[in-house]
Amino acid sequence: MNPEIIIIGGGVIGTACAYFLSKRGLKVLVLERSHLGAGASGTTASIVSIGGSSSTPKPLQPLNVESYHLILDAEQDFERSLEVIRGGTLYAAMNEQEALELKAFDKEIRRMGIDCKLMDGSEACREEPLLGPEVEAALLNPASYHLNPFRLVDGYLSTALEKGSRVEYGVEVRGVEVSNDRIGRVVTNKGDYHADWVVVAGGAYSPQILSSLSVQIPIVPARGQVILTEACQRMTDHVIMFLNHLYIRQTASGNFYLGSHTEFVGFENRITLEKITAFTKAFVQAVPLLGRLRALRFFAGFRPICEDNLPVIGPMPDCSRLIVAAGHGRAGVRFSAGTGKAVSELIADGETEHSIEAFAVDRFAGR
Ligand SMILES: Cc1cc2nc3c(=O)[nH]c(=O)nc-3n(C[C@H](O)[C@H](O)[C@H](O)COP(=O)(O)OP(=O)(O)OC[C@H]3O[C@@H](n4cnc5c(N)ncnc54)[C@H](O)[C@@H]3O)c2cc1C
Repeated sequence: MNPEIIIIGGGVIGTACAYFLSKRGLKVLVLERSHLGAGASGTTASIVSIGGSSSTPKPLQPLNVESYHLILDAEQDFERSLEVIRGGTLYAAMNEQEALELKAFDKEIRRMGIDCKLMDGSEACREEPLLGPEVEAALLNPASYHLNPFRLVDGYLSTALEKGSRVEYGVEVRGVEVSNDRIGRVVTNKGDYHADWVVVAGGAYSPQILSSLSVQIPIVPARGQVILTEACQRMTDHVIMFLNHLYIRQTASGNFYLGSHTEFVGFENRITLEKITAFTKAFVQAVPLLGRLRALRFFAGFRPICEDNLPVIGPMPDCSRLIVAAGHGRAGVRFSAGTGKAVSELIADGETEHSIEAFAVDRFAGR
């Protein structure tokens, strides 16, 4: 028998959709060309906050707040913990100009209902002893945690599988054919698949999957290079974030994760000495201890960035049963649960609790 719904992509968005759809009693088949978390979701810093690392556009704010709580709720259904570390995010300003930017950012996060704490340099060093003396000011956002992203995708998917959904690995989708507002077939390297609904959650690869359809979705890959250090004793629960988008977090196992510039270099996944050297220097200046740790791994991932910095969530104009859930850029983990819930509502109820109008595909129509 055909599955009711095919989801293309086993990243954090595809698996979140599988989780929420299966909670509604719907049967899902996830098709993943490689392995679970093979894309951006396996390289992510997985910081989840209300407010983010810079401005959160207004239409995303309800999704942000909802998703922040839903991820923690979902953990209750999972067999294994998400290794959540709830230390908040400490945004560090390294000069006067950045200190001014922090004040503006403080106001913005407060408007989302979060009581942040602004500090001068010496207060910041007391709050976070890892920071060096060059820190000018800091802002602590308490509504922020980070987690193990492999546990998250596994938790979403395993719970869906327990409820009767399925996954097939090694299946590469080459295109989706539609006619008369219905799904015709899903064309893959392993033959054709059929379903009533299809959800395209292929991250930065989603435009390739949808390339034969009428609207071209402007999602591009934005490379982020990452350094993972050796594990050491617990030093901090904070995410320490700098205003140039660099940040560090110490994982539950004690390794430091250092990320990451945003580079528009297509699907080129090489690690470059230029970036690694530049950001190591910046990190060691702000957090001197890092200079003494051994680097264990270097890797890169592709954030799926949409042209207008909003995700794409909703049906393709060609077919109301072909749903796109992609383009979450720097914040796919942060928005994963809210997106999965919205997609499940769209399919099960025909409408969503929070408006997803701003994320509609047809904003790109007629270009
Ligand atoms: C360095 C870095 C740090 C980040 N830090 C954070 C953070 O702190 N917080 C946060 O919220 N977000 C962060 N992000 C962003 C976040 O990781 C992404 O937005 C999110 O992982 C995107 O998830 P996705 O499921 O849409 O895409 P992906 O994880 O890329 O998943 C897409 C999946 O689809 C599969 N696929 C692609 N094409 C096909 C096909 N044709 N057929 C079958 N399968 C296919 C791929 O193999 C892949 O597994 C970061 C990203 C990077 C790179």
